[in-house]
Amino acid sequence: MSGIDLMHACQARGSLATATSLHTIVRHDEFAKSHLMTSMAADIKVRDFRIRPIEFKLERPIDTGGGVIRSWPVILLDLHTDAGIVGVSFAGCFLPMLLNPMVAMLESLGEMLHGDTLSPKEMDAKLRSMARLIGVQGPLAMAVAMIEIAAWDALAKAAGLPVCRLLGSAPRPIPLYKTVSAMLPQRVEELSRQALERGYAGIKLKLGHADARLDFDLIEAARGCCGADFPIMVDFNQALSVPEAIRRLRSMDELGLQWFEEPVDAMNHTGQARVAHAVRTPVSLGENWHSPAEGEQHMRSGAADLIMPDLIAIGGVSAWMQTAAMAELHGIPVSSHSYTELSAHLLAATPMAHWAEHVSVFERLLLEPARPVGGALIASDRPGFGIEWNEDAIRHSQVN
Ligand SMILES: [Mg+2]
Repeated sequence: MSGIDLMHACQARGSLATATSLHTIVRHDEFAKSHLMTSMAADIKVRDFRIRPIEFKLERPIDTGGGVIRSWPVILLDLHTDAGIVGVSFAGCFLPMLLNPMVAMLESLGEMLHGDTLSPKEMDAKLRSMARLIGVQGPLAMAVAMIEIAAWDALAKAAGLPVCRLLGSAPRPIPLYKTVSAMLPQRVEELSRQALERGYAGIKLKLGHADARLDFDLIEAARGCCGADFPIMVDFNQALSVPEAIRRLRSMDELGLQWFEEPVDAMNHTGQARVAHAVRTPVSLGENWHSPAEGEQHMRSGAADLIMPDLIAIGGVSAWMQTAAMAELHGIPVSSHSYTELSAHLLAATPMAHWAEHVSVFERLLLEPARPVGGALIASDRPGFGIEWNEDAIRHSQVN
């Protein structure tokens, strides 16, 4: 009988004192197991990668100020180790034409790591140093981030811990909002009502119509079904010019919105800071930051009152946590962008965690996609990120 079984037996018989002293034994028992697993982790080597390109047509296109998305290309990565432990990660690459180049890059990067110790930071450093002369950018950066994330998943599985515990924190509830990917009032109303019924703590609207009055109509449609005090964020997906952003956002300052997201071109650093300084509602940036250093510049210039880094774009787990640590120094609350199930672990380990975003576009690939629990997102307590592929759905969407 294991320590845990003994303790449960005592608890069942109402012997509190015995159960309490056995708790110590259980802790030793668990410590011994986790110690064994951790020392095993030190010897685990990367074997090879399984890389699968997926594309599925969206039942309803995603409408944003940055364009309409009709199909969703995704790369799935399984990192196999010589200990039989498999780490997983995935990334949406937006353009179907990037699927094959991503597969080719991941295959080559996998060959470079064959036989290396399972160590996310060292593996990441090796790949980044190899690409120093060209720079780790675009699809190459996505591929490197995917590998780092899968390595963290495998390492946490080897230690028998959820990723958040490996990062030093227990799973905890983070307020969860639903992104309403529509830009017509009737559809916004329908999806907002659905989000409310499903128990989300907030919603995010996609704005950025050429005619500002249409943006106001969408906010009114959402307010009509969610009520005056329900948290609403708005995302312009970089659709506005700087003067138009200042004019439009100022006219929305009295609407009690949680944040204005990416009002102008993400590359226009000065323009972003001008907009943030001109409005009272917090401005949130981060999904298009491609390194912690880029995020730090925006935080220092005051362009971002709130941040929401994207796990893949920022460069993986370590880069996300580094950005979150800098945000803490700046006193800036941190939310996540997309990758809900994975981000739950990083937010749990982020002292200034604010909101988690729920986008449902990846959920068909997972056996147990995230769901709001009392309006919140809670990281899985299974080892690793706690995700499993929905092989049936994947089989139907795989690109050959
Ligand atoms: Mg956004």
